[in-house]
Amino acid sequence: MAGAVLWAYYNMGNCIFCKIVDGTSKAEVVFRDEQVTAFHDIHPAAPKHILVVPNRHIPSMNEITPGDEALIGHLFSAARQIAEEQGIAGEGYRLVINTGTYAGQVVPHLHLHILGGADLRHRTR
Ligand code: 5GP
Ligand code: ZN
Repeated sequence: MAGAVLWAYYNMGNCIFCKIVDGTSKAEVVFRDEQVTAFHDIHPAAPKHILVVPNRHIPSMNEITPGDEALIGHLFSAARQIAEEQGIAGEGYRLVINTGTYAGQVVPHLHLHILGGADLRHRTR
């Protein structure tokens, strides 16, 4: 599906991450509160690969507004706590947010990747 069409499809209530947030799709959830939900990536790119998403559907960083600053701060704060709980904080981990086509964003619901559990220094993604 072409990018613009996929974007529209997701905005019409067909978003897989919204369904994970509301419990209608299954995922291995590791953290949930009133603002964000975190779950294991279905195709892990590292021994620990967790996605943290806002519970509200925001397509990407491009749609963030100044009113979302507390939410984005909370997203990172939750990621820090999850990294600690998953035992990867000490050795180190990578946080990634892909935005748009050139970055390879395939799911148009904002998500923060937590990648850890291995030495990622030689890897660019
Ligand atoms: P992006 O490339 O958009 O930054 O990353 C999307 C990520 O979502 C990918 O790493 C992909 O493996 C993951 N993903 C896609 N669909 C699902 C799903 O249905 N469940 C889970 N847990 N992860 C998914
Ligand atoms: Zn969504």
